[in-house]
Amino acid sequence: MAKKKLDESPDSLESMEAIVFSSGDLNYQDYSEPDDEQDNEPKTPEDKIQKLESENQILSFNLNRLEEETSLIRAMFNKANGELENLKKPALLVAEIVTILNEENASDKAVTKLPNGNKFYSYVSDELKGKLNAGDSVLMEQKSLNIIKKIELSDAFEVEKYVIVEKPKESWKEIGGLKETVEELKEVIELPLKRPKLFEKVGITPPKGVLLHGPPGTGKTLLAKAVANSTDATFIEVVGSELVQKFIGEGAKLVKEIFSLARRKAPAIIFIDEIDALAATRMETGTSGEREVSRTFMQLLAELDGFEPLGNIKVIAATNRIDILDNAIIRPGRLDRLIEVGLSDEKGRLEIFKVHTARMNLQNVKLKDIAEATENFSGAEIRAVCTEAGYFAIREKRDHIITEDFFLAIDKVFRTEVDEEEHIFG
Ligand code: ATP
Repeated sequence: MAKKKLDESPDSLESMEAIVFSSGDLNYQDYSEPDDEQDNEPKTPEDKIQKLESENQILSFNLNRLEEETSLIRAMFNKANGELENLKKPALLVAEIVTILNEENASDKAVTKLPNGNKFYSYVSDELKGKLNAGDSVLMEQKSLNIIKKIELSDAFEVEKYVIVEKPKESWKEIGGLKETVEELKEVIELPLKRPKLFEKVGITPPKGVLLHGPPGTGKTLLAKAVANSTDATFIEVVGSELVQKFIGEGAKLVKEIFSLARRKAPAIIFIDEIDALAATRMETGTSGEREVSRTFMQLLAELDGFEPLGNIKVIAATNRIDILDNAIIRPGRLDRLIEVGLSDEKGRLEIFKVHTARMNLQNVKLKDIAEATENFSGAEIRAVCTEAGYFAIREKRDHIITEDFFLAIDKVFRTEVDEEEHIFG
């Protein structure tokens, strides 16, 4: 059993330890002199030889075992030592070569750039001389900032890991109210995607994209998904705040990749939620974080400028804070069609209730009264009221929902909103 373990090459410290310490159960032959030595003492020379030979065999067996153990322990030691050495080493910086400076015929210096945008004038190690080009990824020592190694970083950013790409199932029918908004979206996004020739004939250029603005939960994302569904377009969703927070140093690259993904998956709709996180008017504080947001934003503008209005890609951006948006994003030729998605009136709310109660088991519920009692509720809150009403029925052990459930639910959703506001504003 132990022998079998020794034959297998241990690939981790734990497995080696297991092998070494399991040797405790090996039966070491006891070759010490027995107590009744006198009685067992070989009498003849042949017996003596035989005894010595058997002792010799046992000793050599144990010697072999000890040698194997020693080599295992040595391997464990070397591995642990190697790991310790690695832990002691300082981390290296990953940078990109901006330019190689050929001074005095020696390409031994380079301007390098870190992902945060900081640039350095770095020395190139002797063995890398003449082997580096602008755009290469390299490792630099933290203290001296000297370039010590060239590395291959995959340039193909796996953009699909960072954005949501789907073919949405939401249809126009699932949107309550918002009639005019739906019509406008159909005109500016759906029609040019479905019938670009018509626009060519008439001789007008549709907008490249639109900006949906309005309070939270009013259905901006839902509208964007419904357009994607009706045009059978790929829906690529990205959240502005994530672009600037999660991908520090990579935001601009990610924007570029998102647009190239859209070209590959066209027809496509790029939905940028919370665009204000990227495109807010900036105060010139000039921190590196600010510069990073600004670079990402500039890349977005460049991408918007770079595609055709009658192509098969459209951009829909959404924000709750149109008041802080940078004008550059809504200039003609960019997201120059602003569509307000506001809170619905009573008639609109009734339609939203109809959408969300369509599959609910209602009994004598006058949705009109409920719509009347939910002034200033957003679509998302109306959906929450419907779900809560269902829960009130379940708690009462009923399988149908009555008007009272809705009023209790309205109260609950309203209270939750107030509590949240108090929590935020103190
Ligand atoms: P935010 O600004 O917070 O991102 P939003 O305006 O994008 O919000 P959505 O995410 O589209 O809002 O809405 C959330 C959910 O609320 C939707 O999935 C849908 O169930 C419901 N909803 C909102 N508006 C409507 C509507 N007009 N009709 C039907 N359902 C709606």
